[in-house]
Amino acid sequence: MTRVAVIGAGHNGLVCAIHLAAHGLDVTLLEHGDEPGGATRSGEATLPGFVHDHCAAFVPMTAASPAMRELELDVDWIDPPVVMAYPFEDGSAIALHRDLDATVDSLGPSGAAWAGAMSRLLPIADPLVRSVLSPLPPVAPAARVAAGLGPELVEWTRRMLGSAEALGLDLFEGDRRATAWLSGSAQHSGLPPTATVSGAFGMLLQLLGHSHGWPIPRGGMGELTGALVRRAEREGVTLRCGAPVDQILVRGGRTVGVRIASGDELPADAVVSTVTAGVLHRLLPSGALNDRLQRRLRIWRYGTGPFKVDYALREPVPWAASEARRAAVVHVGGELEELSAAAEDSNRGEVPQRPALVVGQQSLLDRTRAPDGQHTLYVYGHVPSHPDLDDEAIAERIQAQLERFAPGFGATVLARATRSPEQTERDNPSLVGGDLGGGSYELDQQLVFRPMPEMVRYRAPLKGLYVAGASTHPGGAVHGMSGRGAAHALLRDRHLRPWRAPRG
Ligand SMILES: Cc1cc2nc3c(=O)[nH]c(=O)nc-3n(C[C@H](O)[C@H](O)[C@H](O)COP(=O)(O)OP(=O)(O)OC[C@H]3O[C@@H](n4cnc5c(N)ncnc54)[C@H](O)[C@@H]3O)c2cc1C
Repeated sequence: MTRVAVIGAGHNGLVCAIHLAAHGLDVTLLEHGDEPGGATRSGEATLPGFVHDHCAAFVPMTAASPAMRELELDVDWIDPPVVMAYPFEDGSAIALHRDLDATVDSLGPSGAAWAGAMSRLLPIADPLVRSVLSPLPPVAPAARVAAGLGPELVEWTRRMLGSAEALGLDLFEGDRRATAWLSGSAQHSGLPPTATVSGAFGMLLQLLGHSHGWPIPRGGMGELTGALVRRAEREGVTLRCGAPVDQILVRGGRTVGVRIASGDELPADAVVSTVTAGVLHRLLPSGALNDRLQRRLRIWRYGTGPFKVDYALREPVPWAASEARRAAVVHVGGELEELSAAAEDSNRGEVPQRPALVVGQQSLLDRTRAPDGQHTLYVYGHVPSHPDLDDEAIAERIQAQLERFAPGFGATVLARATRSPEQTERDNPSLVGGDLGGGSYELDQQLVFRPMPEMVRYRAPLKGLYVAGASTHPGGAVHGMSGRGAAHALLRDRHLRPWRAPRG
C-alpha cells in the first residue's frame, strides 16, 4: 500500500489526507502542535466559558470553495444577515448586507453605483470564484467570466488589478466614505488599500458577502476542524500531534520519508508539505532542489502580522453607529486617509497610532460563544511582524481605537487576551511573522509565482514531493483548494482517478 506522510494538520493537510485515505492510501498526518487545525482553531483565551477564534473566523471562501463543499462536512453554519459594517466617527456607518437592496440603501448616494456593479458581477460570482480558486490555468471558469462580462471585461480587469482605493474612487465617482467601506475589506489580504491588486481582494470579498455570505460555524472555528478530523478518521488517516517534522528525507533523487524532531523516521513513498514556503525551505536537505529553487523558497516574502486582542464582554459593544451593533464583522478604520495611512505605517515597520481593525462579533449570532448575556469580541490590527512596542502598548492603541467608535467600550470589558505575531508563529511555525496569508499577496507572489512556476500544479520538482498550503496557489483563507490539488496530483501520478462528486 502506498504510504504518504502529510506535513501539517491545518485544514489543507486534513483535506489532502481525507482524499488520499479515501483512495486507499496509507496516510499519516504529522502536526507540530498539540492539536490539529492550524489557523482554524478556537478555544478559551480570556475567561472560562468564552470561546474565541484564534485566527480564521469568517469564512466566505469555505462557503464558495468546491473543495470544502464536496466534503459535505457536519458543521452548523450561521449566515449573518448584516455581514459587515464600516462606522465613521460621526456615528454613521455603511453596511454590507446579505441583501443587495439593503446595501444599496446603506450606501446612500453611491448605492446606484454598487447596484450597477453587482448587476454585472453577481451573475458571474460562481465562475469568478472558481477562476480565482481553481488550479492554473482556470480555463473553463475564466471563459464563463469573460462571456458574462462581454465588452466590460477589459474595464473590470483594469479595475481589479488596481488598488482598492483606486477601484473605489473610480466606481463611486470620488465618494471617499464608500471607498473606505470597500477598502476595509482589502485588509483581509494584508495588502494596504493603496497596493496594486488590493482592489480585487476588496471587491471579491464584498461580492461574496452577497453571493455566499461570510458564514461562521456555530461553536467556533474548531468545529470545522473537528468535522474534518472526524472525516479523516473515518477514512483511516493516522493523525499524530506533537510530531513536528524537522527534515524531509531525500535519497537517490526522491523523497523517502520524513524525520520527526524526536529523531524518529517515518518512511513514505510520497510526502505532502502543507507548510509555508520558508518552513519548507528549512525542511529540505541542501541539494534536494537546485540552488535557484531553494533560493526562491528562502526569499519568500511575508507581510505584516495581525496583532490579536480577544475580549470577554459583559454586554455587546456600544457602537455609536446602529448598523455596527448588528453586524457580524466591523471594519474600524475611520476616513479613507486614516485607513490607508494605518496600513502603510505597518508596511513601513511602524505600529500605527490608530490601527485599522477587523472586529468580529460572533457571539451576537452564536449564543454558544459566551455565557448568557455576555459576549466575545475578536479584534486584530495589522502591525509589523516584529513590532517595536510591547504587547500592552499595542493593545492599548487598539482599545483606544475601539473607544473612538464605541464610547464607553472600556466599561464593558471583563477580560482581554493578546496574541502577538510572534506568539502566533510560536504556536504555528507556518504563520511566519503572523502573516495571515502565508506570504505577501503582492503581484510577484501571485498565480504562477505562488510560490514558483515549478510548483504551481502542487508537484515539486523532486520525485515524491507535493506541496499545498497558503504559500501555494490560490493562497491563504479556508478553502482547502491546495490540499485537494496536491492530493489530486499525487493520485493521478499513482494512476488513481480522484473523486469529484459529493460524498457523505
Ligand atoms: C489572525 C488570522 C486571521 C485570519 N482570518 C481569516 C478569516 O477570517 N477567514 C479566512 O478564510 N482565513 C483567515 N485567515 C487565513 C487562514 O486561516 C489560513 O490561510 C489557513 O487557515 C491556512 O491553512 P493551511 O492548512 O494552509 O495552514 P495552517 O492552518 O497554518 O496549518 C499548517 C499546520 O502545519 C503545522 N506545522 C508547521 N510546521 C510544521 C512542521 N515542521 N511539522 C509538522 N507540522 C507543522 C502547523 O502547526 C499548522 O497546524 C486568518 C489567518 C490569521 C493568522
